[in-house]
Amino acid sequence: MALKTGDEYVASIKSLGLEANVMGKKTGNLVEHPLVQPSVRAVAATYDCAHHEATKSLFRVQSPLCRQEINRFTHLHQSTEDLINKVIMQRHCGNITACCFQRCVGLDAANAVFSATYECDREHGTDYHQRFKDYWRWIQMQDLVVDGAMTDPKGDRGKRPKDQIDPDLFLRVVDRKRNGVVVRGAKFHQTGMLNSHEIIVMPTLSMRAGEEDWAICFAIPANTEGIRFIYGRQTSDTRKLEELKLDVGNPAFGGQEVMTVFDNVFVPAERIFLNREVNYSGILVERFAAYHRQSYGGCKVGVGDVLIGAAALIARMNGVEKASHIKDKIVEMIHLNETLYACGIACSAAGHRTDAGNYEIDMLLANVCKLNVTRFPYEIARLATDIAGGLLGTMPSAKDLDDPVAGPFIKKYLATGDGVEVVDRMKVLRLIENLVAGAGSVAYLIESMHGAGPPMAQRIMIGRQADLEGKINLVKGLLHIT
Ligand code: SF4
Repeated sequence: MALKTGDEYVASIKSLGLEANVMGKKTGNLVEHPLVQPSVRAVAATYDCAHHEATKSLFRVQSPLCRQEINRFTHLHQSTEDLINKVIMQRHCGNITACCFQRCVGLDAANAVFSATYECDREHGTDYHQRFKDYWRWIQMQDLVVDGAMTDPKGDRGKRPKDQIDPDLFLRVVDRKRNGVVVRGAKFHQTGMLNSHEIIVMPTLSMRAGEEDWAICFAIPANTEGIRFIYGRQTSDTRKLEELKLDVGNPAFGGQEVMTVFDNVFVPAERIFLNREVNYSGILVERFAAYHRQSYGGCKVGVGDVLIGAAALIARMNGVEKASHIKDKIVEMIHLNETLYACGIACSAAGHRTDAGNYEIDMLLANVCKLNVTRFPYEIARLATDIAGGLLGTMPSAKDLDDPVAGPFIKKYLATGDGVEVVDRMKVLRLIENLVAGAGSVAYLIESMHGAGPPMAQRIMIGRQADLEGKINLVKGLLHIT
């Protein structure tokens, strides 16, 4: 079955029987845990969109690999149009969930591994590409969620993996067997890990000669023996444990980040896609990062649309929507958001075919896209905070709204104009709070800064890709300087 529904996806994740440490307790049945459930729903939305009449043509695509119609979240891009449609799809998912819907990481990892394995085989005579094709065909046909695990703990940033106080601070091979390898280490910031069927593990940086044990890429099921999950906290996360949902801000959806430990995990040979070829570790890092930097030109824009809508709505509820400075701030927010989208579309439209046959974004523009993402959502959030007013940080709780003594006072003094229900005003304020300072800000702000690499990583890539010599030569040509 190549096109699961959201309910089928939830049932399939539940059947994996994953367990995690959640706030100090070993916890099973994660899909029904109130902290985890909103993130499961967000992933489920990526499945349901492939069945809704209005969106299914965008979310479904014919796969040349398995020769079936599949969900675009498992597609190996076959054209620049595919790359553009990916960004449009991500904006839509951001619109309907207002959070990180988690499924893009595996998509981006797959497209990076597909081309990198092809080139590695050509250079080193390995057989990774066919292995990966067999694996990914199966992923497409089962319509699975795959986590892309790249970020190692990294220990002392000034030292190489083998010079660390503990060599496991970078995930590595600790034993080599006839039929596979044993790995040990950890991966941080694992977006949606507990909602994934499979994990693709990649190196975190470009390895050098002598660092072969750290140059490893593989895929394994999320419920493989020896993998341990430790759930990450998010701002105001315990509001999700409260009975009333108004204070959560985004009552239906949320993201998820997990620290994942690989405690002597066996990886069978047929699931290994890089093993000691150090020069391909950096290529994998750059390609995966670039695809995910493109992704932000879709998903963050989709969430930005919601925040702009919330700011405009609260301005209307407060009776200030016609004030010229409010209109100007809304226009500024739209301008910033659409600039991000323009970057996402541009790096897709300027993409190219790889030697392996899938399509890759324009690296320079993808990095420009992400560097803007490290800034603009912060400015959009600042403007939304400005428009929303101080009540954003001082508003009474949903419980007080229901309280027989406090409730009537809240309704009396939070009233604005005719037709504005106080509870609706509180809902909009809580949604803004969620995105600028609450659980949603992890994805909208912190992830915008650090996800797919911090700003310096994009600056390095921009410096490398920009052909500065070419620009200098333009001047020399113009001025006849030899
Ligand atoms: Fe997808 Fe955006 Fe979440 Fe990355 S941060 S997984 S691109 S929604």
